[in-house]
Amino acid sequence: MEIVNGQYTTSGINLTEIAKEFGAPVYVYDGNTIVNQLNRLTNAFKPLNIKVKYACKSLNNSAILKLLKKHGSGLDTVSINEVLLGLRAGFEPNDIIFTPNCVSIEEIQEAVKLGVHINIDNISILEQFGHIYGNTVPCCIRINPHILAGGNSKISTGHIDSKFGISVHQLRHVTRVVQSNNIHVNGLHMHTGSDILDAGVFLQGAEILFEAAKDFPNLEFIDFGSGFKVAYKDADITTDIEELGEAITKRFQAFCKEYGRDLELWFEPGKFLVSESGYFLVKVNVLKQTTATVFVGVDSGLNHLIRPMLYDSYHSIVNISNPEGKQRIYTVVGYICETDTFGWDRKLSEVHEGDILCFKNAGAYGMTMSSNYNARYRPAEVLVWNGKAQLIRKREEFSDIIRNEIEAEL
Ligand SMILES: *Cc1c(COP(=O)(O)O)cnc(C)c1O
Repeated sequence: MEIVNGQYTTSGINLTEIAKEFGAPVYVYDGNTIVNQLNRLTNAFKPLNIKVKYACKSLNNSAILKLLKKHGSGLDTVSINEVLLGLRAGFEPNDIIFTPNCVSIEEIQEAVKLGVHINIDNISILEQFGHIYGNTVPCCIRINPHILAGGNSKISTGHIDSKFGISVHQLRHVTRVVQSNNIHVNGLHMHTGSDILDAGVFLQGAEILFEAAKDFPNLEFIDFGSGFKVAYKDADITTDIEELGEAITKRFQAFCKEYGRDLELWFEPGKFLVSESGYFLVKVNVLKQTTATVFVGVDSGLNHLIRPMLYDSYHSIVNISNPEGKQRIYTVVGYICETDTFGWDRKLSEVHEGDILCFKNAGAYGMTMSSNYNARYRPAEVLVWNGKAQLIRKREEFSDIIRNEIEAEL
């Protein structure tokens, strides 16, 4: 987001104009930011055979999926419907990995039928998978290396009490199941949760996978999942992707030599690719002065952007209607009948009713976590690409709210 001629823009497109044309609330994604991030990631690991599998749970509009596919990304999916979305967007089954947690064997069988890569994250399913397929369908194994990472316990997945992955301490059990069922293990995976800050943590996990790899002679890839941190505040430290690339590339090459073959290196970034691309634009409904603060009540709430309430995440807020205004302190809240505070004590350019506020870093886990709570509509989505803003999902309407209801006999 830049100020051009006194107006907030992204890739040359005026954001307040978008709100005017498509209405508020509206999610806006800048495709250039997404493609830049994808290129940054692949360049950082250039010497390796790197494959990026975009974690589509972070933002799954088909236009975004197609854009990423067009620029060389694969797809990471966590439900059978995400697999279907990916196939519909044009991804080859071979470019999709299915990495669910606690889903039924039937759902995994459906994914096998669709021909995508299967990642298994518990021993019970691994056994059932082996009984059904033997060595006819390869699978990847998700290992929990128990390295601590993650800024919030809800998004940290690597700790000892986590429900994710098969504990690295159970590897002997895993190899017994694999050998007795003649399972073809073609990949090892870890995803330790979001917000990894330094290369050291990643490498710690990597060493554990490299060690485990000795027990699996038929590997084709190692999948390091994600956890790249993005900047929410200006001063935030982020994952230095170039530094991480250098450190991992060296170590991975040495590992491949030891292993005896060049393996592919996979990553599954969600946030890293789409978070910064997203702007969530809302309209100010009311200003409410209380004894303690001035509330800015906007036409949105936890039904559209739940991250601040669920994860205490911080999203910068900018009053894009008043770029040059005097700075004042406000508390920005939603219109849901529940406490849904977007941000306390935020410095904003003087706010008037009717102004458009912009939440930054709203690309990941914004729209995909939205709901119809309070019988509100999910917002519209707009993509900025090729010098223009295009609608990629229309705002819901009343018929969407009652679409699946069936009249009862009363
Ligand atoms: C959610 C998820 C990701 C993406 O995490 P980000 O923090 O958005 O990059 C990657 N892999 C798996 C298995 C996931 O569940």
